[in-house]
Amino acid sequence: MAKNILMKLDRITKNYTMGEITIEALKETSLEIVEGELLVILGPSGSGKSTLLNIMGGMDLPTRGLVLYGKQNLSEAGDEQLTRYRRTDVGFVFQFYNLIPDLTARENVELAASLVDNPLPVEEVLREVGLENRMNHFPSQLSGGEQQRVSIARAVVKQPRLLLCDEPTGALDYVTGKMILGLLAKINRERGSTVVIVTHNTAIGGMADRVVRMRSGKIIEITENRSPVSPERIEW
Ligand code: ADP
Ligand code: MG
Repeated sequence: MAKNILMKLDRITKNYTMGEITIEALKETSLEIVEGELLVILGPSGSGKSTLLNIMGGMDLPTRGLVLYGKQNLSEAGDEQLTRYRRTDVGFVFQFYNLIPDLTARENVELAASLVDNPLPVEEVLREVGLENRMNHFPSQLSGGEQQRVSIARAVVKQPRLLLCDEPTGALDYVTGKMILGLLAKINRERGSTVVIVTHNTAIGGMADRVVRMRSGKIIEITENRSPVSPERIEW
């Protein structure tokens, strides 16, 4: 089967300058994201994983290098183009959920749905993540795992081509974390979204189609998984 490249990152460098100090968070890093794949990016804390993910998601721009998404060159894009890209093409899932506290689960998802032209039905998505009985709860009334499910629903309702997840299980217990990974794998398989998961937990690599390993701002290895395992069978 021919593989379509959804995004191409070409020799990305990202420098953060604070006073006299410059930190090279990414050093000439290149990566192609294949449409429909489940990609896991592994590396220790500080290796540049979040920086890379934020650049993929149009939340940050590289200091040097190209970010190509179809015909769009995101590394040269203005604010308006980047905002449109983030809004319509990308779903984000964060470690600490980032829900709006004074909106219910349903309202958090409705707000995201209102930003795009062809959202999925809000209640259908909330059911899909198992929250049919929690729709009218506020985030503070939900467990961590439930809040993460709301945040996945909020991302998925937009039908994003790219679902970017930064340490999505980092704040969850073992069983809940595996449930969330199962949900992300299901969305990848059944909805066809390309899913990128960033984590320091090497076990999670087992569920990926491809695993990218980072160290000190560089990709040191990319491996293909011929038979990814289901998240229920991963142990850490
Ligand atoms: P990871 O997600 O793998 O833990 P990050 O991408 O967050 O790594 O960070 C990579 C490096 O860049 C670290 O040294 C970090 O301190 C630095 N860094 C990340 N974001 C910023 C920022 N906004 N300002 C300054 N330094 C940053
Ligand atoms: Mg990080």
